[in-house]
Amino acid sequence: MDESAAVLQDVARWLAASQCAVAFTGAGISTESGIPDFRSPGGFWSVNRPVMFDDFCRDRDARKEYWRQKCAAARDYSDARPNPAHEALARWETQGRLRGVITQNIDELHQQAGSRNVLELHGTACKIACLDCAARFPLEPLQTEFMQSDEPPTCPACGGLLKHATISFGQALPQATLEEAARWCCEADLMLAMGSSLVVTPAAELPRIAAGAGARLVIINREETPLDHLADAVIRAALGPTLTAIDALLPHA
Ligand code: NAD
Ligand code: ZN
Repeated sequence: MDESAAVLQDVARWLAASQCAVAFTGAGISTESGIPDFRSPGGFWSVNRPVMFDDFCRDRDARKEYWRQKCAAARDYSDARPNPAHEALARWETQGRLRGVITQNIDELHQQAGSRNVLELHGTACKIACLDCAARFPLEPLQTEFMQSDEPPTCPACGGLLKHATISFGQALPQATLEEAARWCCEADLMLAMGSSLVVTPAAELPRIAAGAGARLVIINREETPLDHLADAVIRAALGPTLTAIDALLPHA
């Protein structure tokens, strides 16, 4: 057996034996669904400049720039469908092999694939939220109205600023979600960290917390990450084929 096949066997064995496995995902799990990640060449930040949260709150031009970027990116999200990696994680949760998914993603593809226990650290791009009264609205017709008027919309309920329900740079992460995620990591015996460059904190700290609390750590990512040295296994390969291969090695119920 070559080395990479042996590593897949190890991971399948660990997952089959695990009592409390947790997945942690980043943008890389959705590139095979056609959504670019942020840091690869051609990724979002090679084309767009981030709008900081304070600027969004303070400055109408910044709000316009934000809405322009989000409306352009929305096409990637609305056409995207879950890929075999999302599907494998949903199946493992249904089979009782996985507690759930902690994700940095904002595309709701885990939920579309059938995952039920999903902790969204960075919110969702599939809804609009009011910054004042926290009311939520569907993307449409607000996005179309913005594209026609070039005027960032305000909340129909209270007049507050409306923004996609994602966490912007400079905006605090949802505390309760982060605490729940940290609890999952402390209780995990296996952490599968996938499709993340693991450079954005505090999210990237979570796999480190799991490993520190005694979980086996598996990192599956095309590129190396700053946590590779802590991992029990590192797989540098595409996620769809890799999770499909691990799934095929699991014992059938
Ligand atoms: P990142 O762009 O920093 O890292 C993605 C990593 O995934 C890279 O290291 C890349 O090598 C790897 N990768 C890409 N495609 C892969 C594949 N098919 N198989 C295996 N590895 C693959 O992403 P991040 O760490 O998630 O951080 C970026 C932030 O961007 C996140 O916080 C997230 O909120 C946001 N984001 C989300 C989406 C989404 O929801 N789909 C898309 C872009 C950015
Ligand atoms: Zn409001």
